[in-house]
Amino acid sequence: MVLTLIGAPGAGKGTLASTLTKQLEIPTISTGALLRDEIGSGSELGKEINALISNGNFVSDEMVSSLLIKRLQQPDCKNGYILDGFPRNETQAENLPNLGIYLEKAILLSVSDSEIITRLTGRRECPNCRATYHIKYNPSKVDGVCDVCGAALQVRADDTPEVIQKRLTIYHKQTEPLIQFFRQKGLLYEVDGEDSIDQTFKNTLQALGVTL
Ligand SMILES: [Zn+2]
Repeated sequence: MVLTLIGAPGAGKGTLASTLTKQLEIPTISTGALLRDEIGSGSELGKEINALISNGNFVSDEMVSSLLIKRLQQPDCKNGYILDGFPRNETQAENLPNLGIYLEKAILLSVSDSEIITRLTGRRECPNCRATYHIKYNPSKVDGVCDVCGAALQVRADDTPEVIQKRLTIYHKQTEPLIQFFRQKGLLYEVDGEDSIDQTFKNTLQALGVTL
């Protein structure tokens, strides 16, 4: 099965992808991880990618595509795979067959903007031991204090409402045409991502028509 996952930052795509990978025994291929691995390998291409990202530039579609093609030739992809973070826009989606990628289903993990904002603005991190909390879903025993080491908890710089709103706006602008594209092709399966992790997984299997 060849799938892609679509969802806003904070929608729970990573968690869903790792559960699907385990249960369906097909790998999740994240373009972000591919880029990081290439940089980590110290190759010429990795150096080039690192320079682009460090200067705040985007990595070209061609670079991402060539890394992706290389990865998909690995033997663990022979029964299918889950793409995470690709395609990101309609142009990339239209180009998939040229890369030898024939998507069977696109799963849209739907979470309302207000829930995304609740999830992301509620995150707290310990600057000392890096323990993570959530004021609503995983609170520390004493408000604002780390259970592990007693340090004062902090909000990450990119978890402010302004930054999150900006990321959501970009997400919607890029993704709406992509969703429309998959819907017209009959490949779109929408899953409610506001349920519990377990229920979201069950909803996804149902949408995929998979019985375990
Ligand atoms: Zn701590």
